[in-house]
Amino acid sequence: MRLLVKGARQLVRVVANGEQQLAGLSQTNCNLALMEECNGIGLSIAIDRDGRIAAIDYDDKVAAIYSEDQFEKVIDASGKTVLPGLVDAHTHPVWAGDRVHEFSMKLAGASYMEIYQAGGGIHFTVEHTRRATEDQLYHLLRDRLMRMLYNGTVLVEGKSGYGLDTETEMKMLRVLERAKRELPIDISSTYCGAHAVPKGQTAEEATANILNEQLPALLKLREDGQLHVDSIDVFCEKGVFDVEQSRAILQAGRRAGLRLNFHAEELSFIGGAEMGASLKAEAISHLEEISLEGMESMAREGSVAVILPTTAYLLRLNPPPVRDLIDKGVAIALGTDFNPNAYCVSMPMVMNLACILCKMTLTEALVAATINSAASLGKQVTNGSLEVGKNGDLLILNAPRWEHLVYQMGDYQNLIAAVIKRGQVITPEN
Ligand code: ZN
Repeated sequence: MRLLVKGARQLVRVVANGEQQLAGLSQTNCNLALMEECNGIGLSIAIDRDGRIAAIDYDDKVAAIYSEDQFEKVIDASGKTVLPGLVDAHTHPVWAGDRVHEFSMKLAGASYMEIYQAGGGIHFTVEHTRRATEDQLYHLLRDRLMRMLYNGTVLVEGKSGYGLDTETEMKMLRVLERAKRELPIDISSTYCGAHAVPKGQTAEEATANILNEQLPALLKLREDGQLHVDSIDVFCEKGVFDVEQSRAILQAGRRAGLRLNFHAEELSFIGGAEMGASLKAEAISHLEEISLEGMESMAREGSVAVILPTTAYLLRLNPPPVRDLIDKGVAIALGTDFNPNAYCVSMPMVMNLACILCKMTLTEALVAATINSAASLGKQVTNGSLEVGKNGDLLILNAPRWEHLVYQMGDYQNLIAAVIKRGQVITPEN
């Protein structure tokens, strides 16, 4: 046995009966399968040599099955809280060249589209990312992913999308592939060649390039075993890729066996959510401007809404209508949207923003950052809750109740006593 955590004051399993995702009011009414210390007897969780959860119960019950000397490591979590490692459902973590200079422009009132049309924004990042070597990009990525891990994220979705040409998009995906092999954080990778229209091309030309060159190159690398890509993404937006172009790209991805996980209805309503639901997209992100029909079709088809509160916060947009999405029966997941425009590595911070800006409850935010985020990536069988057989990925909080994770803002390095990945304690390197 690899690890025993014992004596916990509170243990939050999130779900306990193999639930795959919680949609609509089941997210609101979830009891989090919460266990509390009782008559001075705390809670234990045992993780086996394969890094999977072998037992979760009161200390005396687990002690009756395993003796402490069977474990490589024992952690005393007296007075503390144990909960599942967090899942970040949406990030753009591979790029060179930060955009701190644009932060002051935005504070002075420039909009995303004004910066984009002035050749800044994503085009600035594309230029720097095209110039960077694979090794440079890997080291930048490594630092960001490890910081996410120290902030409690054990599984992260990561996109390409700052190349916009075959060579750089494949370079970004190879960098994510190396991180999958070398880093102690799980990664679900997404091809996002349709993140923006490259300079000098029309959206139509960019769509043809994706369909005829980028996607075939990706499939070739996948055939050779060099890449393992999970999903395809497109920025379906007025002035970027329209609904029909987005549909063509997503359908090609679907034919190639990729999951559909894309950006829609962020800055304007154009019917992207309806289109995505008609393709049974596994996840649709943003949705600030989604229609009621779009919500209903997402609920009907089981598409998870990936909500990114950093966008509304940083761009001063209307927050996405999360309460309506929940009322209509949609499952909500959360992501940091980490990118050069939203430099946030912290899911606990995102949960706080989701509660304040999107009016989510604490329970909804935790479900959205665990089982539902895992479901948006198709990883709900291994991640997103503390259940026997799932990955032994957990957080121990220096707090007697889990709500401190959302309530205490910013100082996560001290609040999170330990991040445990498959039964191994992750210790910050510096
Ligand atoms: Zn994004």
